[in-house]
Amino acid sequence: MTLTVKVILGMVLGIVVGLAINFSGLNAEGSFVQKFVTSGLFHIVGKMFINALNMLVVPLVLFSLICGVCGIGDIKLLGKIGTKSFGFYMLTTAVAIASAILIAVGLGIGEGMNARSSAEFSAREAPALSDVLINIIPTNPINAMAQGEMLSIIFFAILLGVSLLLVGKKARKVIDLIEILNEAMMKMVSIIMALAPYAVFCLLAKAMAELGVELFAQLIGFVLVAGGVMLLHLFVTLLIFLKVFSGLNPVTFMKKIRNVQVFAFSTSSSNATIPVTLRTVTERMGVNNSVASFTVPFGATINMDGTAIMQGVATVFIANLYGVELGMTGYLTVIMMSVLASIGTAGVPGAGLIMLSMVFAQVGLPLEGIGLILGVDRLLDMLRTAVNVSGDAVVSLIVAKSEGKLDEAVYNDQALESSDK
Ligand code: ASP
Repeated sequence: MTLTVKVILGMVLGIVVGLAINFSGLNAEGSFVQKFVTSGLFHIVGKMFINALNMLVVPLVLFSLICGVCGIGDIKLLGKIGTKSFGFYMLTTAVAIASAILIAVGLGIGEGMNARSSAEFSAREAPALSDVLINIIPTNPINAMAQGEMLSIIFFAILLGVSLLLVGKKARKVIDLIEILNEAMMKMVSIIMALAPYAVFCLLAKAMAELGVELFAQLIGFVLVAGGVMLLHLFVTLLIFLKVFSGLNPVTFMKKIRNVQVFAFSTSSSNATIPVTLRTVTERMGVNNSVASFTVPFGATINMDGTAIMQGVATVFIANLYGVELGMTGYLTVIMMSVLASIGTAGVPGAGLIMLSMVFAQVGLPLEGIGLILGVDRLLDMLRTAVNVSGDAVVSLIVAKSEGKLDEAVYNDQALESSDK
């Protein structure tokens, strides 16, 4: 059995076990099963695995990006890759949210319902966009790394790479050393990945056992529409983008991206999935590290198609529920806000919901509406993170192809789909 098959098996078994615990009521407060699942073994193994993935992120991004910049060796080309990926990231997010709003409005979700918020939601301050921009430049790069501030790390790594290039021949030894460190980090990804099937099982059993299933009945419309639009984006929009802008085979993409999606689904974090995304797009899809080392962490930080979809559907749902007329201007504002918000949304669990309060505030929707959808956000978070990382991979492929940085033989090599490499 290959690792991919084992991971998928872990996921399916985890879902089945978790749901069985949930539906059978074995998960009652204080029970043995509840302790075992929520704070015992499942919790510990799952959390250790997420920690291990997060542990890889900062050094991996730093080393691979420095290698990437030095590998490109051309500052102009770097600018082109940056501009192109930013453009595609924003475009796919705009399409995602526009389709979410259109479909949600068309279906009239939330109309005629009069559920009121039961859960308390204390709106946390969403970061202002100006702060996001200012903070791209770290005052202290070590601190940025310690805090895992991805945009600052990207900025510093690129600048360091460029500076090493400017130093010239003398810097070769340092660049060689960083290349070795980068290779070692990739090996570390493989080591940790070997434990993935068991960790994925624990993570999903816990998540599914804790889902508030009774809430789903009440919010089934919202969950179905949001989930449906996400799947549509995943299977139609993104694949059309891939085909139109790169000519690559979408079926191959869907096969090879599975692994990444499972990790995103289990961890609900684009950031924690960076090591897996990076490995998959470079080693299995043939994207040159000079492109992937930039587009993958950049995408994990600013590209949130699935999150934008959740925000679009939530806006329409809450507006209808509370009888607020948003109108054309309101929806256009939502599209703009969500696209901007995705830049400031960190790739960590639940971040999209925090940014939703920024969107709601802008169009004057009641913030307590967010409390209403809080209970089902766990599942949607898993789904939207899988969509988010798929978008990152699609744009990486498009940019790599357009710059001649894609090895199509690797992309088309089906044997690499499920290898343990
Ligand atoms: N969990 C998502 C991600 O990491 C962000 C969100 O909450 O929407 O991509």
